[in-house]
Amino acid sequence: MITFIGAGPGDPELLTIKGKKAIDSADVIIYAGSLVNPAVLGGAKKGSRIYNSAEMDLDEVIEVIKDAEAKGLSTARVHTGDPSIYGAIREQIDILDRLGIEIEVIPGVSSAFAAAAALKKEYTLPDISQTVIFTRMEGRTPMPPGEKLSDLAKHHSTMVIFLSVGFLEEMSRQLIEGGYSSETPVAVVYKASWPEQKIVTGTLNDIAQKVKDAGIKKTALTVVGDFLGDGYGLSKLYDKSFTTEYRKGKEE
Ligand code: SAH
Repeated sequence: MITFIGAGPGDPELLTIKGKKAIDSADVIIYAGSLVNPAVLGGAKKGSRIYNSAEMDLDEVIEVIKDAEAKGLSTARVHTGDPSIYGAIREQIDILDRLGIEIEVIPGVSSAFAAAAALKKEYTLPDISQTVIFTRMEGRTPMPPGEKLSDLAKHHSTMVIFLSVGFLEEMSRQLIEGGYSSETPVAVVYKASWPEQKIVTGTLNDIAQKVKDAGIKKTALTVVGDFLGDGYGLSKLYDKSFTTEYRKGKEE
């Protein structure tokens, strides 16, 4: 049995209880060492074999899993944040399916949510944005048609941009080209939930320079949109005159 586990954004206390149990009981652990905080492996049982997938290719990862299966051992495959976002788990799952190896996936706290928590903000504000786009900039992995930042910017929704903090100047340019005003608020959250977490706020105009000045080059998310501003409508959910299944209106 192999269990894919979302290890969360960094703080080991943001690992789910289920994820921790799976890690602590695994015979073999393969973790994405470039981003996963090794502290999440703190409860691994004595004698478990631990591999860092940052130093392995896909074939090597599969070999380790196959070998463990053949010996009747359990494997924990540990990914950062939630594995469904830029986790590259699908290619592993499909190979394991073909090999007839049973898998399970345990979700994790994505850095997208740790960043919102660090900022103490809500991505979906009434009258401002009710949609969140998770995306990245075109880099070595090209973007599919219609998904360039300038295309996505047309929606004026909240954008959470992964993997791209090294290209902030180009990012701002593309977002402005897509229709965001240059005064649109932006926040960059470096290492959300880690002790060295840093937050830089600004606008599309000045964020690139501010982030450069702060020395941030990787492991950061960029969030863009008016949800970072001051204006918004009030939630209907808690509106006195709005009835819900749980709270009937005064007239009833
Ligand atoms: N599956 C992960 C994302 C993996 S892609 C998740 O759900 O969070 C790797 C990118 O995620 C990094 O380049 C960075 O943009 C972002 N990232 C991962 N951990 C982060 C953290 N603690 N703080 C800020 N950004 C983080």
